[in-house]
Amino acid sequence: MSQLSIWEKESFYAPSDIVIAGSGLVGLWSAYYLKKLAPSLSITIIERGRIPTGASTRNAGFACFGSLTELVADQQKMGTDQLLELVDMRYRGIKRIKKTFKEEDISYEKHGGYELIGHSTSGQSSDAPDTGIDQLRSSIDEFNRHLKKITGQQKTFSIQNEKIETFGFTSVQYLIENKLEAQLHSGKLCQALIRLVTSMGVTILNDLEILSFEKVHGHLLLHTQLPLPLIADQLLVTTNAFARQLLPQLDITPARGQVLVTSPIEDLPFKGTFHFDEGFYYFRNLGDRVLLGGARNIAFEEETTTEMEITDGIQQELERFLAEVILPGRFYTIENRWSGIMGMGSEKMPIVKAVNDHVFCAVRMSGMGVALAPIVGEQIATLMTGGEDSTDLEELTS
Ligand SMILES: Cc1cc2nc3c(=O)[nH]c(=O)nc-3n(C[C@H](O)[C@H](O)[C@H](O)COP(=O)(O)OP(=O)(O)OC[C@H]3O[C@@H](n4cnc5c(N)ncnc54)[C@H](O)[C@@H]3O)c2cc1C
Repeated sequence: MSQLSIWEKESFYAPSDIVIAGSGLVGLWSAYYLKKLAPSLSITIIERGRIPTGASTRNAGFACFGSLTELVADQQKMGTDQLLELVDMRYRGIKRIKKTFKEEDISYEKHGGYELIGHSTSGQSSDAPDTGIDQLRSSIDEFNRHLKKITGQQKTFSIQNEKIETFGFTSVQYLIENKLEAQLHSGKLCQALIRLVTSMGVTILNDLEILSFEKVHGHLLLHTQLPLPLIADQLLVTTNAFARQLLPQLDITPARGQVLVTSPIEDLPFKGTFHFDEGFYYFRNLGDRVLLGGARNIAFEEETTTEMEITDGIQQELERFLAEVILPGRFYTIENRWSGIMGMGSEKMPIVKAVNDHVFCAVRMSGMGVALAPIVGEQIATLMTGGEDSTDLEELTS
């Protein structure tokens, strides 16, 4: 790149109080809460893609907080208390999204969510819980008790087997409903957030990658493709699956998720968000189309990658599931296929912390970052501005 003009140096590329790496949902929500807490802060978000290019514009658009079998599996790994803390963050996150944006601006639609139980796949995890009806009822009772504190509902989950036929599914033994689940348009949500933070004075620089950073004389120098380093007082890393490029010590593993979308389907018999096999398979209506994703568990190793490609193996498994379970006997074509990269790790809790005096991170959003991002953004903004840990900053500041 040629030399920078003085105008460029003093505006677009001027030193910032805070630089945020990554304009996915977490980077954007963090910028929003930083500006709410400290409006005078100068904030620049640096995004290496032309648009956010990780998971935030490439996901399935579920506004969800956990399907039953996923919660049961996670409870075994992380214990009840930590799991409920995570579910509470997701649930509050969805409320924040609804409070911040008009439903029509982000195509937020509440048709409820369901979990299908009973059809085995080539990849069904071996530690999937026993799906006997007694075991299922007792898990539902247990989680309804736990979730009452979070959702305020007596029965977050209930068995609704009569809908299996209405929806036209085959090979499904039980259907568990969660009326609180909803869906949204991930692209519109990111655009709405970009508009919002821009209106608050945040600068977003696209097509620019933070390659490395160093501390010199009390400031951070951020090296990018520009001829001169950018200068900031603090750096917030919200690059999720890609975070180890800048912070190699973090416990983050990339996990690719592949998706397909069908052509419009005449008289599509269901609306809502659907989960299967501990959340490894998921589908929803998108108007009168079906969006289906997942099956990462049939090729864990291959899908542990930051390469944003699709593969024959996973796409064929998704098509098989679509034809056999979701849309048996229906005519459709596949009109769209893509992948996105999630940030996973040995634990499901996100990493929200100060790495040192100048560098912070909010990463590892796993598979439910749409819901988590507002709360994670608020948490890191509170930490960076030295504020109290506020469970409900929104109530104080709105
Ligand atoms: C297929 C799929 C389906 C999913 N479905 C759902 C769902 O239905 N509901 C749900 O809640 N969650 C879902 N998720 C998860 C959710 O999308 C993520 O948890 C969330 O979007 C993570 O947001 P983020 O901001 O942390 O990361 P990202 O969206 O990945 O953002 C990170 C950004 O950092 C940028 N970046 C990387 N390195 C650099 C660098 N060095 N310099 C500058 N910029 C950089 C990237 O380009 C990217 O834009 C899904 C994910 C996938 C992949």
